[in-house]
Amino acid sequence: MQIYNTMTRRKEELVPVTEGTVKIYCCGPTVYNLIHIGNARALCVFDTLRRYLEFRGYKVLYVQNFTDVDDKIIKKANELGKTSSEVSENAIKEYFIDAEGLNVRRADVHPKVTENMDIIIDIVKTLVDKGYAYEADGDVYFDTSKFPEYGKLSHQPLDDLKAGARIEVGEKKRDPMDFAVWKAAKPGEPYWDSPFGKGRPGWHIECSAMSRHYIGDTIDIHGGGSDLIFPHHENEIAQSECATGCTLANIWMHNGMLNVDNKKMSKSAGNFFLVRDMAKEFGYEPVRFMLLSVHYRSQLNYTLEVIESCKAALARLYTCRDAMERVQASAKDGEASQSTLDDIKSAREDFIKAMDDDFNTADGISTVFELVRRINTALNSPEITKGDVRAYSEEFSALTNVLGLLYNKNNEEIPAEVNDLIEQRKAARKAKDFALADQLRDKITALGYIVEETRQGTVVKKA
Ligand SMILES: [Zn+2]
Repeated sequence: MQIYNTMTRRKEELVPVTEGTVKIYCCGPTVYNLIHIGNARALCVFDTLRRYLEFRGYKVLYVQNFTDVDDKIIKKANELGKTSSEVSENAIKEYFIDAEGLNVRRADVHPKVTENMDIIIDIVKTLVDKGYAYEADGDVYFDTSKFPEYGKLSHQPLDDLKAGARIEVGEKKRDPMDFAVWKAAKPGEPYWDSPFGKGRPGWHIECSAMSRHYIGDTIDIHGGGSDLIFPHHENEIAQSECATGCTLANIWMHNGMLNVDNKKMSKSAGNFFLVRDMAKEFGYEPVRFMLLSVHYRSQLNYTLEVIESCKAALARLYTCRDAMERVQASAKDGEASQSTLDDIKSAREDFIKAMDDDFNTADGISTVFELVRRINTALNSPEITKGDVRAYSEEFSALTNVLGLLYNKNNEEIPAEVNDLIEQRKAARKAKDFALADQLRDKITALGYIVEETRQGTVVKKA
């Protein structure tokens, strides 16, 4: 598989450090608010990458952090009169509701800053001991002059970087290009004890510490949005490579940004969209479809027309699946014919060709629609057998699964609120608290859904 590497600016063959296993580190959200559609793009892109690599036979180790110590979290906590950890824990809970709605699987590890302070302090100490970082009045700064390759990922000349760098009020760094790896405690802020005094980590250092701890010195694919290239990923490289002496990541993979009506999305411009709000209006699944419908490196322009057309495209996939189920029941017995097997083979070859070429989900989706066209033709033939339908159906499921699509029982999506109650009810039944389980069932019914226990598991449908 070829993937475009931001570092070398060309497509490169994916060659995992450990044969057969691809190790991915993806920078996760700062947890203080509901995620927006831009956050969701990175989530869905890298979730699909993980699924595709598994489909191609790799084992995947997938690590995605939560930044749960940050100025924004502290600010929000102060506004609400809560602790930082109450704010971040709540935001993580909400994150998982949206991630599950989007069919984004949980990472193998979701490390949090607050739970990894020892390893973070450790790497800061290594940088100080090796002379790459210096202490200044309780702060610790990375000395960028000690890392001549600084700027190599963002391909910016050092002079340009210098021109853009500032020393903010209260910062004690020697050079505007230097950046904090540890910040001295300020009154009213959470802090941890360290050899440099009480304080908390700078933003970038957590990823250097956690990627090394949970993956190793060299990651196969480091992912994130292109807005993270500078300074975040540039700084991760400087810290990690100075601490370990190894290349931090073999491939740097960045998804493009998302515009709304051809304008940059921002709170101040009033075109800022939370995933939760979009899910209420359109359902989660059309959002996922939209995020995968363009090449991950391209800019995605979100408009009402785009999401409506994604919804309609998705409905065509559901219609095809329903039609296969119906014909499966009525078709005559028999094995799959050669022409069915040929259709399937060419669909799979085309799909792999698209996805192997820098993970082109847009073309991957096109090949699924080409398969749908062939299936619809075949379903109309009086010659079709149960074996044909089964073979088509299996291939259709395999490919849509890689894209993380068609995950609802039917086209009518179950709202997050109902899913949440279903999960609570499952837990109650497991704990044999049947009174609570019955109460939860009543709540689900009140929202217009029926929940049934069958031999295949819990089934939920609209009343
Ligand atoms: Zn990061």
